[in-house]
Amino acid sequence: MERKPIMATPLQTSNTIDFNSARLSLSKPQPSLSETIREDYSERRYRMATSLQSTLDVEQLLQLFLGELKSSVELDGLQYINENQKLQIVTGRKASHSCGYRLITANDHLGEIVFYRNTRFSDQHLQAIEVMLSALICPLRNALTYRDAIMASLTDPLTGAGNRIAMDNALEREINLARRFKQPLSVLVMDIDKFKQINDQYGHGAGDAVLKSIVSTITKINRNTDLTFRYGGDELVVLLNRTNADGALVIAERLRKAVKALEIPVGDEMITTSISIGATSFTAQDSAESIFNRADKALYLIKSEGGNKVIGL
Ligand code: GH3
Ligand code: MG
Repeated sequence: MERKPIMATPLQTSNTIDFNSARLSLSKPQPSLSETIREDYSERRYRMATSLQSTLDVEQLLQLFLGELKSSVELDGLQYINENQKLQIVTGRKASHSCGYRLITANDHLGEIVFYRNTRFSDQHLQAIEVMLSALICPLRNALTYRDAIMASLTDPLTGAGNRIAMDNALEREINLARRFKQPLSVLVMDIDKFKQINDQYGHGAGDAVLKSIVSTITKINRNTDLTFRYGGDELVVLLNRTNADGALVIAERLRKAVKALEIPVGDEMITTSISIGATSFTAQDSAESIFNRADKALYLIKSEGGNKVIGL
């Protein structure tokens, strides 16, 4: 275990605890801990471990952890960063003094955690934090694994876009928000033109590459990448929150043009393709089904006209 307290340098973490090799020493009272900390050390760690078992939600887990830790060490807040899972969570407040730890075990890198307070961290406080961190490792690993599984069940493995289940959830949520806050919401339903021909002419692998390339182009242009979905085979959906009908047509046209300009390498050749986009906007009478069907109807009209176009309904 290597430990270097960082003072007044928020967001910087230089401490690394290998919880596998440190497990034994951390789960027993440290001889150097003060008498007061040593006395209720086991009880606090036990209470911490029990409390942290009650949730699989990473954010809630960190809130519980901070709450329990505050009974041992005065703290203002913490920040947790896990780059692999694109997670950055702040619980409580940041303050002028910080100390950070990289959480590693023999098998995983569980991210980095930085603690904040307005006074310097003493050696004793750091020891207490480290002891309590050892109780966080297992519940944190479980919560991250659970989060991974949930994300996988909502993601299309080929393109990384949200899948149909994710889209249904998101559309319901966005409609509720649009209704409650009286904000505009638009829906784009799109379909690749003559996609079957690409599969037939160049093979399924080429079709997959085209799908990936189109989704990647759309998510780069779209300001909110969380709201792009692969709804079915070559059907994609983009939800545009806080965007009215005029804005939706502008964005749809931008997406159509970007896809039309794409040159996708397949073997020695470059393939070009196009998409058709049906656009529509939320009205007070709409349900998820009615708004989706309207955009789909617009898409159907374009297909009957040969594709590569945007129509708003
Ligand atoms: P249209 O212009 O009317 O949209 O015609 P289309 O050829 O694109 O036909 P349609 O949208 O009806 O068919 C979609 C095709 O997409 C059928 C299927 O072979 C193909 N497809 C579906 N999922 C995948 C996939 O994951 N990878 C590949 N490569 N092809 C897929
Ligand atoms: Mg198609």
